Amino acid sequence: MNAEFSGLTAIVTGGASGIGRAVAELLLEGGANVAVLDLNPTDAPEQALGLRCDVSDRASVDAAVEAAAQEYGGIDIVINNAGIGAQGQVDANDDDEWDRVLSVNVVSVARVTAAALPHLRRSDHAAVVNTSSVAATAGLPDRVLYSATKGAIYSMTLAMAADHVREGIRVNAVCPGTANTPWVMKGLMAKAEDPAEELRQLNARQPHGRLVEPAEVARTIVFLASPLQGSTTGTALAVDGGMQGLRLRPQ
Ligand code: NAD
Repeated sequence: MNAEFSGLTAIVTGGASGIGRAVAELLLEGGANVAVLDLNPTDAPEQALGLRCDVSDRASVDAAVEAAAQEYGGIDIVINNAGIGAQGQVDANDDDEWDRVLSVNVVSVARVTAAALPHLRRSDHAAVVNTSSVAATAGLPDRVLYSATKGAIYSMTLAMAADHVREGIRVNAVCPGTANTPWVMKGLMAKAEDPAEELRQLNARQPHGRLVEPAEVARTIVFLASPLQGSTTGTALAVDGGMQGLRLRPQ
């Protein structure tokens, strides 16, 4: 990776773990200033500015985005990546749970992007990348609420891209398949009697026979955020071992 992000400032929500941390590391490698907005900012990469932020709280988001802009003199890139899971069929989650997960996964994208918008408008290389999921379009069993949030992120990406294309602000998304992150591993360990066997089966269920690596998703996010991709907006790139492209259903 060359220094294509030199002089640019990025904020990465959920940048203290998994996919977001890998994005923050790559952006730093590419020469960007990086602010990580996360519930656990101490786990952010050392060279990043770690800011404690709850993306489900507007005041917390506004304060963190302004702190990042003050520190670095602006914001060019927003990576809306923080997200949480939710399991179950349509009757599994009560209204409070719907509100909570929608707030963290979906409304956060609006909160963070809106707070950064005045800064993005002043940038010559403004880009927003949102982390959706294969769940947006795959019809995953037992994931109604989670799928709803990721579908919303997908359609918000297109609408936001249309709204801001004339202002030079690009908006894209990535749709990862099941990735080898702390979140997925914790879930596996919690429910499996034999985690090693469960992991073997999970790998085997992926089209390409293994989990997606966080670094693979991160490279795609960074590609979309790059000032070298000035004509790419309103797209959602799959990083899922072929699940979407081959129109496979999760096994
Ligand atoms: P992760 O749990 O490893 O990391 C998520 C990070 O988000 C953590 O650092 C956490 O502290 C932070 N976070 C959670 N709630 C927050 C809040 N309210 N405010 C601020 N920060 C908060 O997860 P991951 O697997 O790296 O997932 C990252 C994103 O990728 C999520 O949006 C997830 O839906 C999406 N995704 C993950 C997978 C997968 O298989 N891991 C697949 C598709 C999409």
